Amino acid sequence: MVKAQDSTIKSSVKNVEAKVDSVLTLMTLEEKVGQLVQYNGSWDLTGPASEMNNKQKEENLKAGKVGAMLNVLSVDATREAQKLVMENSRLQIPLMFGYDVIHGYTTIFPVPLAETASWDLEAMERTAEIAALESAANGVNWTFSPMIDVSRDARWGRIMEGSGEDPYLTSKVAVAKVKGYQSEDLANPRSIAATAKHFAGYGFGEAGRDYNTVHIGENELHNTILPPFKAAADAGVATFMNAFNDLDGIPATGHKTLQRDILKRDWDWNGFVVSDWGSIPEMIAHGIAKDKKEAAKIALNAGSDMDMEGGAYESSLVDLVEEGEVSEDYINDAVKRVLRVKFKLGLFDDPYLYSNANLLDQISFEEHKAVARDVAKKSIVLLKNEKDLLPIKEFVKKIAVIGPWADDKDTPIGNWRAQGEANSAVSLLEGLQNNNDENVEISYAKGADLGVGERSFLMPLEINETDKSGFEEAINTASEADLVIVALGEDAFQTGEGRSQVNIGLAGVQQELLEEIYKVNQNVVLVLINGRPLEITWAAENIPAIVEAWQLGSESGNAIADVLLGDYNPSGKLPVSFPRAVGQEPLYYNQKSTGRPSNPTHVTYSGYTDEKKDALYPFGFGLSYTDFEYGDLQLSSEEMDANGSIEASITLSNIGNVEGKEIVQLYLRDLVASTTRPVKELKGFEAVNLAPGESKTVTFEIDEEMLQFYNANRKWESEAGEFEVFIGGNSRDLQKATFSLKK
Ligand code: BGC
Repeated sequence: MVKAQDSTIKSSVKNVEAKVDSVLTLMTLEEKVGQLVQYNGSWDLTGPASEMNNKQKEENLKAGKVGAMLNVLSVDATREAQKLVMENSRLQIPLMFGYDVIHGYTTIFPVPLAETASWDLEAMERTAEIAALESAANGVNWTFSPMIDVSRDARWGRIMEGSGEDPYLTSKVAVAKVKGYQSEDLANPRSIAATAKHFAGYGFGEAGRDYNTVHIGENELHNTILPPFKAAADAGVATFMNAFNDLDGIPATGHKTLQRDILKRDWDWNGFVVSDWGSIPEMIAHGIAKDKKEAAKIALNAGSDMDMEGGAYESSLVDLVEEGEVSEDYINDAVKRVLRVKFKLGLFDDPYLYSNANLLDQISFEEHKAVARDVAKKSIVLLKNEKDLLPIKEFVKKIAVIGPWADDKDTPIGNWRAQGEANSAVSLLEGLQNNNDENVEISYAKGADLGVGERSFLMPLEINETDKSGFEEAINTASEADLVIVALGEDAFQTGEGRSQVNIGLAGVQQELLEEIYKVNQNVVLVLINGRPLEITWAAENIPAIVEAWQLGSESGNAIADVLLGDYNPSGKLPVSFPRAVGQEPLYYNQKSTGRPSNPTHVTYSGYTDEKKDALYPFGFGLSYTDFEYGDLQLSSEEMDANGSIEASITLSNIGNVEGKEIVQLYLRDLVASTTRPVKELKGFEAVNLAPGESKTVTFEIDEEMLQFYNANRKWESEAGEFEVFIGGNSRDLQKATFSLKK
């Protein structure tokens, strides 16, 4: 058997194509359809194909009627399943094994929204590389990640799974993740195939409801939703997953324009599209297919290549081809796409590659933990720091640690936790105890038990809204301390799939607990543990220090302690706007101007009569323990040619007392164009480290490509005219200059 490292299997593209063609010519129609079927392997979930018993599934595997599985979790289990195929089926085409490795496998990293707050692409690539290695060591060779759905609605539970509201930042993360999972060579047994999901529009469900109707026009689709997917396709992502939602009347799973025209034809992408779980038969409920057979026909014709646990392709595709309803050319194309990925993964050379590699022995979980702590501390965002409460000063001798998440070892693991064990995170309390000075007394009171109890992926969550029995102890503990750290937020299972909420404040009695504590001690640091932007307006107005600590994964408590104790100067920036009130959702910085942008003194402007219209904390926002000063924005020229570029520079100075890192952000605005354009759009960023007193000039090159957008001609092009350039430390506080593009 050829080893993956052997250069002979780093097949050139041409070689892969020749091999794919030669396998295809051997295949019967039934065998071809088999490659387009994916079975669930473990969980007892309800779904169309889940109804099939295991014995039947086994028979189908042996008969070569299955191309891939998901949720088969362990080297032994994957080996067993692979054996059924390799030792019984006529053509012995190896299976792929998929799994939702979303933010780590055993070692759990921050949830994706949190990790994006680090704006550290190298770190994000590294965590994907580690997640790939840990999954590959357990037999998985395909992750359903990254989720690159731009989302502007904090009510949507899956906002935690993506990179927030900005298409540019999401695109950068998409590329980093694809590189990390797949490496240069997919056949390296430490790499796994990645999935760009959910194609497309899933993050725009009406009113933040999961799986819901999406209304986006062509302009929004191309300018906001598609760019991260295009970036992932260009980065060579092996697979795409389509989506549950409909898009202007057509379910994404049956959307030919999206899958066949844009993705496969215009972008010339040659991987395969897997459906979302059962999304093919869900087109019956959508009301566009009368039965499974019609759903299969619509999906395949629209370019959905593989049916994940939907049971539609296996029951109908052969008949549909024989009846002339689906062309065999389409089937061939879909099968070739699947085979291509299998060849690139090295599976034809060694179907047991992932179970043979013995990677588990080579993994240093200690090293992975160190990476988890590093990325976790970089993901923390300092939202407010008055009274100089942070970092915790030496004169603070008594710290009270309070709140339902203060000693919680589970919620930081987040939803979509793969094989991250329950209750395995370092809690905030443990983190402080591990890292604190011995002379400091740390006392703890939970304060409120939200009574969430046992929960799982599929169960709805119940939160106790009334129990205040822990208040007294918490208030007493707080009143005796020099400093109170209050950890509030959300349970891990308040965000994630199917976890949309109409209230995004502090659930249950948490708000009341915070107010009661503040009455007895005003030296409060609020630490937020959550997976979505929260409505924390009262806290923002009253509590002197607020730290956004998200769900940070295995090393959560240590990372938070690093920041609270000043061992790490916070550098994270929000990838999503925090609202003043939930009624502002969807809320995002890169809005259109509208014809009535701002005249708050008069009601006839596009805002609210009972609340400001801007964010409480805007996109890109995050403080440091030092202060940064931005000088004037300088342009190398006020005119740019179509083939040329200009430079925008700014001098950044650290005018505080400690070393710090600032994420300098570049935004652009097209002032007059053939379609309405956002008031600003992120187009670049750079992390700058500065010692106290140090200054550095940061220069961004702006070229014509950065000015392109999907315009009224339905083309990606720039249009001559005036542009504004903004540089600053968040999307609100910016220096501005103007230039024009000549064409
Ligand atoms: C989710 C996908 C996920 C799939 C497989 C679906 O319910 O929408 O994101 O990859 O299940 O678990």
